[in-house]
Amino acid sequence: MATGDHNQMPTITEAHCETPIVEDVDVLVCGGGPAGICAAIAAARSGARTRLLEVHGALGGIWTVGMLAWIIDAADKGGIISEIVDQLEQRGARRFRSDKGRDFAYDIEIMKLVLEDMASEAGVQLRYHTRVVAATRDSNNRLASVITESKSGREAWTARQFIDCTGDGDLGSLAGCGFDLGLPDTGRCQPMSLLCLLTGIHFKEIEHFVGGGWAKPKDLLRAEMERGGHSPSYGKPTLFRIRDDLFCLMANHEYGVSALDAQQITDATVRARAEIHRLVDGLRGLGDPWSDIRMVASGAQIGVREGRRIRGRYQVTVDDLITGARHEQGICRCTFGFDVHALDSSADKGIDHSITGGKPSLPYDIPIGSLIAKDVDGLMMAGRCISGDFLAHSSYRVTGDAAALGQAAGVAAALAAKAAILPQDLPWSDLRTGLEAIGHSLPRDMPLPS
Ligand SMILES: Cc1cc2nc3c(=O)[nH]c(=O)nc-3n(C[C@H](O)[C@H](O)[C@H](O)COP(=O)(O)OP(=O)(O)OC[C@H]3O[C@@H](n4cnc5c(N)ncnc54)[C@H](O)[C@@H]3O)c2cc1C
Repeated sequence: MATGDHNQMPTITEAHCETPIVEDVDVLVCGGGPAGICAAIAAARSGARTRLLEVHGALGGIWTVGMLAWIIDAADKGGIISEIVDQLEQRGARRFRSDKGRDFAYDIEIMKLVLEDMASEAGVQLRYHTRVVAATRDSNNRLASVITESKSGREAWTARQFIDCTGDGDLGSLAGCGFDLGLPDTGRCQPMSLLCLLTGIHFKEIEHFVGGGWAKPKDLLRAEMERGGHSPSYGKPTLFRIRDDLFCLMANHEYGVSALDAQQITDATVRARAEIHRLVDGLRGLGDPWSDIRMVASGAQIGVREGRRIRGRYQVTVDDLITGARHEQGICRCTFGFDVHALDSSADKGIDHSITGGKPSLPYDIPIGSLIAKDVDGLMMAGRCISGDFLAHSSYRVTGDAAALGQAAGVAAALAAKAAILPQDLPWSDLRTGLEAIGHSLPRDMPLPS
């Protein structure tokens, strides 16, 4: 059986290869998810020649190829993420909102278009279908190049500054950075989930399975799925209403799957797709209001909650959430709390509240240091692969925060490239001015929570 651990396997020696340097830019962003797209646009708007490399054929990561249609904690962030929200609104694609109006659903296909339009207007050079597979450092321990593979073969890209927005911390790891993964004692990670889009159902007829409080609709939906013959592997199955006849479904949990093992991810994807089809078929078999329910698409990429957390010059910790940390150089205020999905199927398969010991969290700030790699120079991180511990990551991983972290990293990388210095040497006053220039909201200017 193929696994991610190749240590014990026989090997072959490949021919030495000369890799062409296809481009030299100011800022190279790897990964085009919520963090990457905001990083690239922010860098380009801050005057940097910017290239974005993405393995899939669309921008957005979990927002689009992952088929999530629900943005959490984007309110009050300013900058690119606020413009994305405005663009969705203007195109009629920002849909139903949470009770307090801060979180919202959106139309995934319009999101793809908005992101490409904004990237193109900002002058970001895009390369799709291209995977980052290696990196080189110079004699000063500075990241010198990124190597990719694609239909164009093996290519090298050089830059003044690099940003790892791969979610799983691929670039940081390839560059030689230390990282953390999962729980400190076991390495166990949160489950993956394959998301899908459903149609053939109508909001008015299934309202009590969708809205009105956090737990009740999910418990009702789970009971309905069980009545249809299948108990979902995610104990709190959720329907996100995008339009009155279009919904996103999250009903699957794949436990104990490593984000670093392609065979495990493949097996999980196959299992998950079969499960969500079974659940939908079971509902259809119940008759009205489910008699016409159809799955119109499942994610091209199973949703990965956890990958590597690259070690940075500051590590966000559980204590930051409990005390509501503030920092002189804070660049993002997170208001979403702990969110650890069950790590195995032994309990209720929903959210694991026991792991935090029932401790509440307060809004807290993330400083720029957690976006700057500790072990290799010239490398920043944004999104879920920044430097933090297991519990802190369960909070700041949501996409509103990932996007805000991205735009802060993009500005810092662009300014550092322009000044020919490292991001850690960038004066805070310069970064602050640069962030204000793209409309980014700084936490220290926000009102304290009452
Ligand atoms: C099932 C699930 C449900 C969630 N629910 C919510 C929710 O309701 N609301 C919310 O706001 N957040 C939610 N989250 C959290 C959130 O989606 C993620 O933490 C978020 O995706 C972080 O953004 P990112 O840009 O860091 O990573 P990603 O979205 O994972 O983007 C990484 C990008 O990098 C690309 N990439 C990866 N490796 C390479 C490589 N080697 N070379 C080139 N490109 C590469 C990927 O294709 C992808 O486009 C959920 C997550 C999951 C998995």
